[in-house]
Amino acid sequence: MDQRITRLRDRIDEINLDLLARLSERAEVAEAIGRLQTELGLSHYDPMREQAMLEVLVAANRGPFTDAVVKSLFKQVFQASMQLEQEQDKSRYLTSRHSHVADTVVYVDGVPIGGDHPPVLIAGPCAIESREQLDAVAAFVASRGVRLLRGGAFKPRTDPYSFQGLGLAGLQLGRSVCDAHGLAFVTEVMDAADVGACAEHADMLQVGARNMQNFTLLRAVSRAGRPVILKRGLSATIEEWVMAAEYLLAGGNTQVVLCERGIRTFERFTRNTLDVSAVALAKLETHLPVLVDVTHSGGRPDLLVPLTKAGLAVGADGVMIEVHPNPAVALSDNKQQIDFETFDRYLEATMYHGRLSPGRTELYGAEG
Ligand code: PEP
Ligand code: MN
Repeated sequence: MDQRITRLRDRIDEINLDLLARLSERAEVAEAIGRLQTELGLSHYDPMREQAMLEVLVAANRGPFTDAVVKSLFKQVFQASMQLEQEQDKSRYLTSRHSHVADTVVYVDGVPIGGDHPPVLIAGPCAIESREQLDAVAAFVASRGVRLLRGGAFKPRTDPYSFQGLGLAGLQLGRSVCDAHGLAFVTEVMDAADVGACAEHADMLQVGARNMQNFTLLRAVSRAGRPVILKRGLSATIEEWVMAAEYLLAGGNTQVVLCERGIRTFERFTRNTLDVSAVALAKLETHLPVLVDVTHSGGRPDLLVPLTKAGLAVGADGVMIEVHPNPAVALSDNKQQIDFETFDRYLEATMYHGRLSPGRTELYGAEG
């Protein structure tokens, strides 16, 4: 190599290191500004300020780079600083992977959800209708190794004249039937005023899709001392869903499980569209366990198996499914609940080993 080139290259290496040191210094100053902006509730992005900085740089430019090249180089620097400020913001949130790298494991009456534990199955009727109905479902799903029984006592219904749930009587039924079959009881709470009664009777509370942004309810549930399933709203963005979870964590409840239950799209062949990217993203962005509700998303019994496989493939920590002794006469969601025979076929198709080892809750395992 020509000696002159070697010397010039040495000089370039030195300048690179100088530039890096100055860029890092600049990034630290940008981070300090970012922290102050966050503290004062100001936006990180200020187009006027960016424009003013570029004008100063262009005025000072003596070449050999053109003004356009100088602008584009510095825009890259501005963007990198902005990203740093945004990353910094994320770590403020209790739901964020930035603040909590390890998976959170939520325990419901000793049953773990999340982390390296096998996917959990939460099964039961849409609504608690009678002791006979609930007892039949509980006995059946328990015999298949299910440990968490779902059933609504307070039902969010579109039609105000349709069955609204048994209320307190439903909660009492849920508790007594679950106790009789050694199951944990999962039920929806719709009103902040009912949080106490629901927490007293149930092992796990559910905030439904329609209440995802009921902040008064979220605050009350955050203080209930029970693990909670937070369903994604019908038209909620992932950010809104995660922020709703943030209310629960900020209020002191760390036992939060997210549940993707399908979102409203233009598609009419399904009731909703199961958003598998939301499941994957919720796992990436937060440390909370994530479930897929395969019943309310597709709204079709013939989609339960594929949606379960899709959900688990993208990292879901469990599945929620509705089972009813006689779906045709169910008082709610009668088209999408499945009977016992169909549930058995579902377990078979998803390789559930409950019958081989009743104590286990996984949807796939030893031979899967
Ligand atoms: C339910 O799980 O009973 C229910 C009403 O679901 P969602 O809130 O997702 O509609
Ligand atoms: Mn339902």
